[in-house]
Amino acid sequence: MLDLWYKNAVIYCIDVETFQDGNDDGVGDFAGLIERLDYLEALEVTCIWLTPFYPTPNRDNGYDITDFYAVDPRLGTLGDFVNFARAARHRGMRVIVDLVVNHTSVDHPWFQAARSDPNSPYRDWYVWSKEKPEDAEDGVVFPGVQDSTWTWDEQAGAYYFHRFYEHQADLNIANPAVTEEIQKIMGFWLELGVVGFRLDAVPFLIEYTGLDSHPEGDPHEYLTELRRFLSWRKAEAVLLAEANIPMEMADEYFGRDDRMTMVFHFMLNQHLFLALARGDGRPVVDMLRNTPEIPKTGQWAHFLRNHDELDLGRLSDADREEVFQAFGPDPDMQIYHRGIRRRLAPMLDGDTRRIAMAFSLMFTLPGTPVLWYGDEIGMGDDLTQTERNSVRTPMQWNGRRNAGFSTAPAERLIRPVIADGPFGFLGLNVEEQLDRPESLFEQVRRMVRERRSHAEIGWMPYEIVDAREPAVVALSRRSKDGQILTLHNLANRAVEVRLDVPEGPVRVHRLLADGESDLHGLEQGTARLAPYGHAWIKLEPRG
Ligand code: MG
Repeated sequence: MLDLWYKNAVIYCIDVETFQDGNDDGVGDFAGLIERLDYLEALEVTCIWLTPFYPTPNRDNGYDITDFYAVDPRLGTLGDFVNFARAARHRGMRVIVDLVVNHTSVDHPWFQAARSDPNSPYRDWYVWSKEKPEDAEDGVVFPGVQDSTWTWDEQAGAYYFHRFYEHQADLNIANPAVTEEIQKIMGFWLELGVVGFRLDAVPFLIEYTGLDSHPEGDPHEYLTELRRFLSWRKAEAVLLAEANIPMEMADEYFGRDDRMTMVFHFMLNQHLFLALARGDGRPVVDMLRNTPEIPKTGQWAHFLRNHDELDLGRLSDADREEVFQAFGPDPDMQIYHRGIRRRLAPMLDGDTRRIAMAFSLMFTLPGTPVLWYGDEIGMGDDLTQTERNSVRTPMQWNGRRNAGFSTAPAERLIRPVIADGPFGFLGLNVEEQLDRPESLFEQVRRMVRERRSHAEIGWMPYEIVDAREPAVVALSRRSKDGQILTLHNLANRAVEVRLDVPEGPVRVHRLLADGESDLHGLEQGTARLAPYGHAWIKLEPRG
């Protein structure tokens, strides 16, 4: 078997700034993160993805970078990063980091040089126009907060292009000096112990919008170039693409085993929430059927929520409205005319059965699961925070001061901890859930363990099983010693399922299930799933 570690990985995403403060200044940091590796080891995740931790004016949660070769001094030093990377590796956890090279902060010295001198070598690192392009209002990524993709710069005497906020100027990847620099950045972090990158905003990274001249041919070729460089430097390293793409574009992103190693399956994510809203498994099943085959070494990455909004932009207007009504009916819960800025647990009314079912389904989809910190204990959101910061509140470790995140005075915290309501830290925290068998944390921990023990879920071809019940998503994987069957009831009512079991006598092993579903009839192909019930079963030929 090829050693494709990422096919059996469980990835856990952390924002260092809000995870654990190690020096009591109110800001999470690498020293704090190192202290919390015990927790990640207990959860048994195998790979940590760090959102940006580089120097930044922090107008976009670190996605506005001023130095690609350093650590934000509030979070620590390069030495602290290396300590962390080493400590994680010693516990068997790999580390991937965000690579944000579609743009830089306008405070970056490259942009400062570019704007102040038309003859600067950095001028052509960005995208300029003397006139405001006619389509400047099209294609803004943050409608409602961002008006244009071109902004006049007085000092430069020109407009610069920015796909995102106006403080994030797009780099010009048609300039070989820029692509060389991107390789240098990747090489740097690979030497410091990372095994790959979550590549930010890939569709925008490879666009030539606004450029008068650019290389001929398919811009996706650049992805091949990136992958080739990565593999030369570190064979096991991966690229995980943030690319909210329609399915017909999957080929361009995976290439022929030579572009992105993994791509987030945004389409399936949006249909999963439609399925949850309807209490009906069919949107998930239909989306799986519409997902094209990908190269053998390629892999989809699945998630429930992440650090951004729940992006529903690829659903039909009617379907999006349905999800809005179910999970984000107040205008304040919605954002950018396309998404919901809430965490998983509050969207699912804090119903542990339902949240656990959603996790379980995500863990059993064909691909690699990715968790957003705090969702494993059902953390809530804070809608008083601006834009997507609602889902980026400090980790809730215990019921003590500042939820155990920091001992700094509360007013100095990078963001307030959630104190009130059903998701407040006094009642909802890691300490309260650890070793309580039916807590969400313990249920997720068991899912991580079973997922890792059954590599066929991430590796093997799957089949959609007809369970004769539209509320249920039933998937099967066959391996040489049997079959793994996973059942998920998205409805809030008990359902009967009827399955075609293999010929001849079979032995039924219950790997994992909610406490109320009745699986005794499975040898004959029937089961009764509780409301929001879930079950992972292994069927082995008897004899
Ligand atoms: Mg600190």
